Amino acid sequence: MAQTEARGIRNVVLLSHGGAGKTSLAEAALFAAGAINRLGRVDEGSTTSDYDPDEIKRKISLNLALLPCQWHDTKINLLDTPGYLDFVGEVKAAIRVAEGAVVVVSAASGVEVGTEQVWAYSQDAALARLVFVNKMDRENADFLQTVSQLQELFGTGCLPLQLPIGAHNDFTGIVDLLSMKAFTGDKAEEGEIPPAMAEEVATWREKLVEVIAEMDDNLIEKYLGGEELSPEELNKGLRQAVAEGKVVPVLAGSALKSIGIGMLMDAVSSFLPAPDEREVTAGDDLIDQSQEAPLAALVFKTTADPYVGKLTYFRVYGGTINSNSHVWNVSRDGDERLGQLFMVRGKTQESVERVVAGDIGAVAKLALASTGDTLGSQDKPLKLAPIKFPSPIFSQAVHPKTKADLDKLGTALHRLAEEDPTLLVRREADTNETVISGMGITQLEAAAEKMHRKFGVGVNLSMPRVPYKETITATAEAEYKHKKQSGGHGQFGHVFLRLEPLPGGSTSEFISKIVGGSIPRNYIPAVEKGVLEGTHEGMLAGYPVVNIRTTLFDGSFHPVDSSDICFKIAGAGAFKRGMEAGHPILLEPIMNIRITVPNDFTGDVIGDMNTKRANVQGRNPEDGVNIIEAKVPLAEILRYAIDLKSLTHGRGQFTTEFDHYEQVPVHLAQKLIEEKQAEKA
Ligand code: GDP
Repeated sequence: MAQTEARGIRNVVLLSHGGAGKTSLAEAALFAAGAINRLGRVDEGSTTSDYDPDEIKRKISLNLALLPCQWHDTKINLLDTPGYLDFVGEVKAAIRVAEGAVVVVSAASGVEVGTEQVWAYSQDAALARLVFVNKMDRENADFLQTVSQLQELFGTGCLPLQLPIGAHNDFTGIVDLLSMKAFTGDKAEEGEIPPAMAEEVATWREKLVEVIAEMDDNLIEKYLGGEELSPEELNKGLRQAVAEGKVVPVLAGSALKSIGIGMLMDAVSSFLPAPDEREVTAGDDLIDQSQEAPLAALVFKTTADPYVGKLTYFRVYGGTINSNSHVWNVSRDGDERLGQLFMVRGKTQESVERVVAGDIGAVAKLALASTGDTLGSQDKPLKLAPIKFPSPIFSQAVHPKTKADLDKLGTALHRLAEEDPTLLVRREADTNETVISGMGITQLEAAAEKMHRKFGVGVNLSMPRVPYKETITATAEAEYKHKKQSGGHGQFGHVFLRLEPLPGGSTSEFISKIVGGSIPRNYIPAVEKGVLEGTHEGMLAGYPVVNIRTTLFDGSFHPVDSSDICFKIAGAGAFKRGMEAGHPILLEPIMNIRITVPNDFTGDVIGDMNTKRANVQGRNPEDGVNIIEAKVPLAEILRYAIDLKSLTHGRGQFTTEFDHYEQVPVHLAQKLIEEKQAEKA
C-alpha cells in the first residue's frame, strides 16, 4: 500500500453492541476496497478481523483488529473492536488512536446496552461519528424506528444521510439524500429513486439540508432565500457539522449482502476528519503533525506471539518512523532499535519502509516498549497522554494443573498482562494464591485458554480466597515452658508473654521487657522468631494474625539445656495460648464500592447491597444516573461484576478499593472456622 499524506488517511474505529455486525462490515469493506478477494464470514470463522482461534471458536471478537484498505484516494485504517464489554480495554485503545467512529446498530434490534456504552466512550473521546444501521435484510429490520430511537437517546443531530429502499428480503438499495441518487445491489448500480419514496426522501433531505445550512451564515441566507445549496456546499457543511458533533449522519445497509458498503466508505472519506484536522497535545505542547516534525508515536497495542515474539502496534502523530532505525522511548527513557516495520491487516503483515504522521504501523521485538508508551526523539522528547484503561473489577485465583505448568506460569502471566493492560496479576501473600484480575469472567476464561494455546500452560480458575485475618480483643498473659529430658542433653525454654490488641490497621509488634537476666539477651531474638511464626497462622482458622503487641516480660533458662530453638518453641507456644485467652476474632476486608447505575435501577441495586451486609453511605444523582457509595465486605462482592450485570442488564458499572478490616459477624466466623477445620481434616 502506498504511503499517504495524513490528509488522505482516516483512522476509524468500529463500535457496537456485540453482534451488530462490525466484523462482517469490516470484511465487506475490505472486499469492496479490493483489499481481499474472498468475502469471509463470521459464521464460517473465515473473516480477516477475527483470525485468532479463540475468536473463531467463540464467534466474537476478543481483540481489536487493524484492517487498512485503500478507498479511491483515501487510506482507511479500520479498527474493529470487541463488542463484549469484558474486552473494553481493546475498545479504549482503538478509540484512543482514531479520529472517527462508525457506530454499528442492528436494524432489527435497534439501540442496545452496548451501543449506549460505546456511544458514551466515543463522546468522551470527542470522536466524529457516523451510524451504520446494519442488517437491513433481516426480518423486523426498521430503519426509521432505529433513527427515532437514536434521536431519543443521543439527540436530534442523528439524521439520516440515506434511506433504505425496501427492507427484509426486499431490501435492495439506498437513496442518498445529498446527491439524490439511488444505488441498488452489491455493485451499487445507479437507478431511479422509487416514486413511492419521493415524499419521504424530500422530507428527510429537507431536515438534513436545514441543519447543514445552519453551519454557516452565507449558507443559511441562501437557504432562507429559497436558493439550492450546491453539492460542494452541502458536502463541506456536513463535514464541518460532523467534525463538531452537531450532526451524526445515519446510513443504512447490510454487511452480509454487501449493500451500502461503498457508500459508507465514501461517507468515511468525505465526512470523517483526517488525522491532522484534530489538535494533538503532549502536556502543554502542540504536536506538529507533519512528516518532517520530531517523532511522536503512541504504542496502543502489544501482542505476544510464541514464534514471532512481541509485536508492537503504534500510531504516529508527528514525524516519520523508518525501518531499521533507532527511536527514543520517551516513557522509559531508553533507546529502541527498530527492525522491519509492517502494515498489519488481520493476521497478514506487509513490510514497509516507513510509517508517517497520521498512520498506523507495527514492529516486532522492541526491547522496552509497552502499551501506552510514547516513541519519540531524544532531542525533543514529547510524551503523549497514555491510554486510560478501566481498573479491574473481577478476580480469579489461578491454579496450574501440573508441576510443569507451575514452572511456566509466571512468564505466561507476564506475557498476558503485557498484551492486555486491563489484566492485573498479583501474588496474594496472605492466601498464598496467584490472582488474576480483569473486567469479567469471559475475559479471564479467554485469558486462561490463551495461556494454554499460546504458551502451553494449563490452569484452572477459581474464586479467590478472601484474605481473612485474626486478632484478639482483650489483653491476655500466657506462659509456656518447653522442657524435655531425654537421655543426655535436655531442652529448656520458658517465657511469659503479654498480648495486647492494637487499633485496626497496625502491624504486630514485639517488645522485650526482660530485666535482671531472667532470660539471657541472646535468646530474645529466638523468642521473637517464635512469636512471629505464631502470627503466620492464627489459632482460630489459620489466617495471619494482626494488630497485636506482644511483650516478653519474664521467663527462665537452664545453663546447659537452653538453646535458641527451645526459646523459639516456647515463644510460639506462649503466643498461641495468649491468643486463645485474648478472645480471638476473625477480621475480613471491607471495600469501598462506587456503583453507577441509571436512575431506574437505584432501588434494586441498593436493595441488593443490603442483602450483602453493605453499609450504604450515600447516593448522588448525576444526570440520569445515580452514584451509590457503600462499604461492603469483600466476601460478598467477589461475583459482583456478574451480579450487577444481570441486575441492571449491563447498564451498571462499579469500582472498588480496599478500605479497612472489620470483625466477621460471629455466625459467619463460626462457619469459616468449621470449613477450615474440615479442609484440614
Ligand atoms: P460483531 O460482533 O459486531 O463483530 O458482529 P458480527 O460481524 O460477528 O456479526 C454477528 C452475526 O450477525 C453474525 O452471525 C453475522 O453473520 C450476522 N450479520 C452481520 N451482518 C449482517 C447483516 O447485514 N445481515 C444479516 N442478516 N446478518 C448479519
